[in-house]
Amino acid sequence: MLKNQHVRGRQNLIIDKTTINESPDLNLCDDIAIIGAGIAGTHAAWRLRQQNKRISIYEYSNRVGGRMYTVQFPEILGINVELGGMRYLRRSHALLHETIQQLGLPIKRFDLGSGPSPDTIVNVRGVHLRYNELGGNKTPYRLRPNERKPIDQLTWEVFRNYTDVLTTNVSETDKKFYIRDRSGEAMYKQSVQSLYHKYLSAEAQNYIRETNGYSTLSTEDSASLAVQTITVYRKHSIKHNHDLKAIKKRRDGYYNLIFEPTISNSRTSQSKSTIKKCAKKVILAVNRLSLEKLDWQSLYQPRIREYLTKAVKDIPAAKLYFSYDSPWWRRSPVYSNYLISDTPLRQTYDFGTSILNPSKSVLQAMYTDTDVPYWEELFNRAYGNETSGDFVNGKELDQVTKKYLSDIYKIPIRTIPRPTNATVIVWKNYPYGGAWQTWMPGYIWPTVERQMTKPSVSDDVFVVSNAFNSRSFSYWGNGALQAVELAMPYFGLRRIE
Ligand SMILES: Cc1cc2nc3c(=O)[nH]c(=O)nc-3n(C[C@H](O)[C@H](O)[C@H](O)COP(=O)(O)OP(=O)(O)OC[C@H]3O[C@@H](n4cnc5c(N)ncnc54)[C@H](O)[C@@H]3O)c2cc1C
Repeated sequence: MLKNQHVRGRQNLIIDKTTINESPDLNLCDDIAIIGAGIAGTHAAWRLRQQNKRISIYEYSNRVGGRMYTVQFPEILGINVELGGMRYLRRSHALLHETIQQLGLPIKRFDLGSGPSPDTIVNVRGVHLRYNELGGNKTPYRLRPNERKPIDQLTWEVFRNYTDVLTTNVSETDKKFYIRDRSGEAMYKQSVQSLYHKYLSAEAQNYIRETNGYSTLSTEDSASLAVQTITVYRKHSIKHNHDLKAIKKRRDGYYNLIFEPTISNSRTSQSKSTIKKCAKKVILAVNRLSLEKLDWQSLYQPRIREYLTKAVKDIPAAKLYFSYDSPWWRRSPVYSNYLISDTPLRQTYDFGTSILNPSKSVLQAMYTDTDVPYWEELFNRAYGNETSGDFVNGKELDQVTKKYLSDIYKIPIRTIPRPTNATVIVWKNYPYGGAWQTWMPGYIWPTVERQMTKPSVSDDVFVVSNAFNSRSFSYWGNGALQAVELAMPYFGLRRIE
């Protein structure tokens, strides 16, 4: 039995110990157990909705959505604060867009999501310049003459000049596994940084790294939009606060699923008791780290273990939002609604002003995947080991962010007000392990993807994690849906591209 409790405004689910240690009765077994209620798990449940099967979704936390995590400041209703994914591209992410249309979910135009515009301010090495001035005279890096270019042009020219990308005659999708650099090294066996180290000056590498916003997205001509809601098909049951620890195959071919209950406040923690469930088929819609920790024999086959632990790497990320009584940053002489800097804030977004409460405004002060250890240290010192939550009283956090906000907006520190509210998140700990993953050198992505989708030929257990997606990057939700689609033929459904 689940009891609701409210602690510091957040809903806590406490699991009554009398319900645990249930013995798995065959009639109570699920036809399909889906582990993880992120966008992948919920999409899998929705795709299987017409199969007339008994389906349960088991979720570690007390909410649906996983790395899609929308909250609002209580005093500023109407502005979504996106702690995880916040945008998609209508054209490139067709599967996600069509699914959203079919579900009738509300979507919102999100111009900031398109990445830097020509007007975006870049504040590096104490200099403020517009994005379209990068590569020109004001660029504060000691670049060689052939490196003094806009970022997109420079990075493309490295590929064009130092690899055989233009002369390799295979399909665009396969190209990355065939092209070689000038030294003859295959590109898929090295990181992009390794290519830069060979052919660019150290300053040019700093230039690329420090001014990097989301420049790859600016080539898209479609609008980008924020995802507002994720729903689970109502017929299925969803069980929150269940952390899957082990899968054991039974003699009758079913699977016993061993969970530990979790207790959610701003940080979800474990309790030591176990809950047993059973299922005929299992869909693992969980993160890479969660799979690495899972006790299921098939994940210990040497090849699968290697893919799981070495083929992709978790990348942590952090975000910090403030609410204010007024949008003071719009007074800035160098204002732009998106600002990239080499301070630990890295990316700062004007998230808008409330329509319901005029003048109350939201600033995404920090968004980084490079300075995460620093922010984590700061949050930990102020608030213990919590990695997400509402932090309004952090004095050190307030001082540091004010100092950097003053630098990037060129506004005197004493005129910057204290925020009325704040919320932070660090995507690093179990079960996430990171905000997203990157492929490591040396792996043929489609091979890894195929094997990870069904790690064991003799088991009806499927992995639908976009960590191993060969066609889309794991920092896109669309990839999570594609990963689900790869498993659908095993359930008698046609795969949607
Ligand atoms: C900061 C950030 C920014 C991003 N920006 C974008 C963006 O703008 N656009 C975009 O498209 N994508 C973005 N992404 C990526 C996107 O959020 C993810 O690709 C997508 O949400 C992944 O969905 P998923 O269902 O595969 O995984 P998740 O959302 O991680 O879901 C996995 C679920 O499984 C649960 N779980 C894990 N282990 C267990 C276990 N053992 N037992 C039970 N439950 C378990 C987790 O609690 C979680 O709910 C971003 C991600 C982050 C973190």
